[in-house]
Amino acid sequence: MGRGEYYKNKYGRGGRGGRGGQRANSSNSQPNFRGEDQDWTDSSYQNKRVIKASTREQLRNMLLDMDRKPYNFYKELYGYEFDFERLFTLKFDHVQGDPYASPSRLCVTLPLNNSRYPESAWTNKSRTVALADYICRSTVAVISELKADHKARGAWHEGKGGELRIEHPSQNIILRTSVEVQNGAILLRFCVGLPAKGRSICGHWAAEICATTVYQIVIRACCGEPTDKNKVESWVKCYEDQENLREQLDRAQLVAFVPDGAVLPRAAGHIDTPLGGKSVVPFKSPPSLKTTLQCPNKGSITGMGIRPGVTLIAGGGFHGKTTLLSALKLGVYSKIPGDGREYLVTTPSATKIRAEDGRQITGVDISNFINNLPQNKDTTKFYSCDASGSTSQAAAIMEYLELGGKCLMIDEDTAATNFMIRDDKIQMLLSADKEPIKPYLYRARELYDRLGVSSILVVGGAGDYLDIADTVLLLDNYIVVDVTDRAKEIASSRPAHLPSLPPMVSPKARTPDLGSLSPFREKTKVPDKTSVSYTMRGEENFSVLDLSALEQLVEIGQTRFINEVLQKLSSQKGGQTLKELMEALSGEIDRHGLGCIKDNSNWLCRPRIQEIAAAINRYRHLALR
Ligand code: ADP
Ligand code: MG
Repeated sequence: MGRGEYYKNKYGRGGRGGRGGQRANSSNSQPNFRGEDQDWTDSSYQNKRVIKASTREQLRNMLLDMDRKPYNFYKELYGYEFDFERLFTLKFDHVQGDPYASPSRLCVTLPLNNSRYPESAWTNKSRTVALADYICRSTVAVISELKADHKARGAWHEGKGGELRIEHPSQNIILRTSVEVQNGAILLRFCVGLPAKGRSICGHWAAEICATTVYQIVIRACCGEPTDKNKVESWVKCYEDQENLREQLDRAQLVAFVPDGAVLPRAAGHIDTPLGGKSVVPFKSPPSLKTTLQCPNKGSITGMGIRPGVTLIAGGGFHGKTTLLSALKLGVYSKIPGDGREYLVTTPSATKIRAEDGRQITGVDISNFINNLPQNKDTTKFYSCDASGSTSQAAAIMEYLELGGKCLMIDEDTAATNFMIRDDKIQMLLSADKEPIKPYLYRARELYDRLGVSSILVVGGAGDYLDIADTVLLLDNYIVVDVTDRAKEIASSRPAHLPSLPPMVSPKARTPDLGSLSPFREKTKVPDKTSVSYTMRGEENFSVLDLSALEQLVEIGQTRFINEVLQKLSSQKGGQTLKELMEALSGEIDRHGLGCIKDNSNWLCRPRIQEIAAAINRYRHLALR
């Protein structure tokens, strides 16, 4: 599609600025997640009535004219679409009310044909996700090179404002709203602090940012000579291969795959980039678990396949057990090239759970693991606003099963000991009828044999797990050794006492009362990726929805998205189970992108349904039907 044709589609045949634009595809008129009939195959910029077509020069003049006027004159920017030399358009999605409010948002729409990106980078939907990710990173880099973010470079004027930012992505390639590729165009969404001195507009400064700096950034990040053509192509292919590998796992009868040569350790506990230097021991599969998979671009790839069942990661302290499990838990996301964990993939529903005392539990049947609590507390519909380590872990597992997940991960380091094992001496001291907990040790085998749910467990001290394991991996100086046979010998020479228990009951489907999710929430904020804070109407104090136990949340944008989902769900009719709600939401995002929850946002990122449901489950005001 040439440039002229793009504009013709966009504005219709009556020339630019008209309203005759064709809708790209109006056949899809199913009611969507918002309960409205709307054609989401159109991008939001086409849906929104563009009222006034204008030019870059006019934008500059408008801003210069606003100089020294009261701050709210900036609102005049609404409703315009500024054409930048027929290369791209710019419009304001949000104009802040005062210099101290959260920054304004502007959206640039650049037809792909005007960009330097090769057509091969957007031939399918999967590739557009990776291309958008690539562009997002290029844009972040250009902003930093140009020192365009006033906040980042220190005082420029005495005034307030001048921030110019785009969301910083993590090591993962995920669908985000900061940059999207759709309908033949790239959408870049910037945060901009519209500048002021006191409460008067700094028009010259604003004109420099919006008409000049943004232009330079877009040109550098997206246009010009395609010097990075190979890099872009390998970026999208690498992503496509990883998505493909993850899809293959089921067919290959695997729950995870770790490629030979992968670099698993990270630079530091709080930094997700790879550890560098000579001390790194690259991953190498033990011969017995060597598996070769084929991916569409890279061809064959060899590494360790983890089969369904109960897998133990054993070994001495500091030998790399947690590092391996952490890489596996994040294998649900595809990585950027150079991360070290590219092509390490885990079955999409795999979830790491952990002990989380103090959390909320709402009506979960934890009786498979816990019974006979003091004061006859009902464990088939267990409620607590202050769970213990063991009840929190039991609830997390049952909530996970309720969604239909197939692979649980637990690390001894972050588990409640009494939930994992009961040794002989403690059994002598405390008869079984006095101890309410049936540890995971008694259930892990059955979880797989009857319910098909695999476990990958880090075990350093609980040897009884050898009795129930299908595969035992030993980490020795960061090298994985398959010690399954030896483990079986040990287990049969000294068998563990595993009592026979009544069979597990299947998880009950709970139906949330959606009205409980939001109507009294005000002033919601997402200060970081692990929490949502809000006040309840009429209350002074902030409440916090604590998501720090959700170790597979990797970007703050995911947490923001979760917050938006809570708001959105609360206005729906309800009556669906939590699982049905999550599946509907997931389908909606697949079809229509993140805009199905909120339009024109510049900072959302796609979470998995496991994390969304986990957040709902932790919400302190959740009620069930
Ligand atoms: P464990 O859980 O067995 O006690 P960890 O996984 O926490 O051990 O790893 C201990 C340390 O070893 C960490 O600092 C980690 O970065 C480092 N490490 C892990 N795997 C490797 C490796 N393959 N090469 C180099 N260092 C590693
Ligand atoms: Mg550890």
